[in-house]
Amino acid sequence: MKKTIAILAGDGIGPEVMQQTLRVLDQIAAQFQHQFTYMPALVGGAAYVAHGEHCPDSTIAVCQRADAVLFGSVGGPVHEQHLPQWQNCETNSILCLRKHFCFNINLRPVRIYPSLAALSPLRSAVIGEHTDIALFRELCGDIYFGKHQQYQDAQGRVASDEAIYHADQISVIAHAAFQAAQHRRQHVISVDKANVLATSKLWREVVEEVSRDYPQIKLSHMLVDNCAMQLILNPQQFDVILTPNLFGDILSDLAAALPGSLGLIPSASFSANGLALYEPAGGSAPELAGKNVANPIAQLLSMAMLLRYSFGLHQEANQVEQAIAATIAEGFRTADIAGNGPAVSTTAFTDAVLNSL
Ligand code: NAD
Repeated sequence: MKKTIAILAGDGIGPEVMQQTLRVLDQIAAQFQHQFTYMPALVGGAAYVAHGEHCPDSTIAVCQRADAVLFGSVGGPVHEQHLPQWQNCETNSILCLRKHFCFNINLRPVRIYPSLAALSPLRSAVIGEHTDIALFRELCGDIYFGKHQQYQDAQGRVASDEAIYHADQISVIAHAAFQAAQHRRQHVISVDKANVLATSKLWREVVEEVSRDYPQIKLSHMLVDNCAMQLILNPQQFDVILTPNLFGDILSDLAAALPGSLGLIPSASFSANGLALYEPAGGSAPELAGKNVANPIAQLLSMAMLLRYSFGLHQEANQVEQAIAATIAEGFRTADIAGNGPAVSTTAFTDAVLNSL
């Protein structure tokens, strides 16, 4: 297979974990006789230094020509956020790509590796060895895109935010969630606040309609407040979570805390026109940058998702995921997941993954 991949490594630990990821991708390409062409482009602070903007047209053009986008992370140290290079860097970079390519579905898989269960902030008996959640968050509707107002009335200062959902926006992501459930444990839990919100009532209606196309998949509805509680009390009950944008923003970060390190969690954003962007759930971890200590797993798993979802290369994706699981099972740990035990470097961890492949 011949494919082109836009490589947007970004800032902080982005470039170093990306470099290690491409070593693994090169080996997969060689093993399975694929030809992957990498098209690097600048984004974030790195793009600002070169072009005076966080997401220049040249970067958009590279993504446009690519079959898929592999993204690292962007942003600078918290104490340097006032510098133009870092001001609004994350928003300008990610929202610009999201808007331009209409990424409307975000998928964040949250999985516990049995040998890392002790890292979870939850007790091992609660998190168990089988927590494996696919969280689908709608990205283009809801309260972020309605009218935001701050004004003064007779009683003083007032603010309002408008939340809007169109039925077709809900239907697209509901289909994606049900299709994913077909290859998993066949259970979709749709999250809303249908006891109060009109957008949630429509959400529930449309999800019910879509579910009729998937009679073998069990559908349950859960109110968002209960869902937050259940993710902590019994995360193993969840298979596929389907959520509107605002609730998904919050719940996906809550779920990301369960494995114990942001360095373990990948994510994917899909657009209606077929392009998808894959990136670690975490940020640029500036305090770790340049030290060869960052965990490359989130970036490696993002690459495995790219192989599976954009190129249909399931065997290759499974092989990358199994090599990572085997490396962890053999006892290799980067500092963020080592606890009090010995830690290996980013490159040494990747060497072990390459050995396992
Ligand atoms: P962060 O995700 O960079 O770091 C949070 C914590 O997780 C830190 O302790 C960090 O060391 C750790 N961590 C994250 N990824 C890791 C990895 N691969 N290996 C080991 N440890 C890892 O979030 P932050 O510190 O709040 O933000 C730092 C910068 O990242 C900010 O400029 C922020 O705007 C940006 N950011 C970017 C993205 C993105 O690119 N999508 C997302 C979130 C934050």
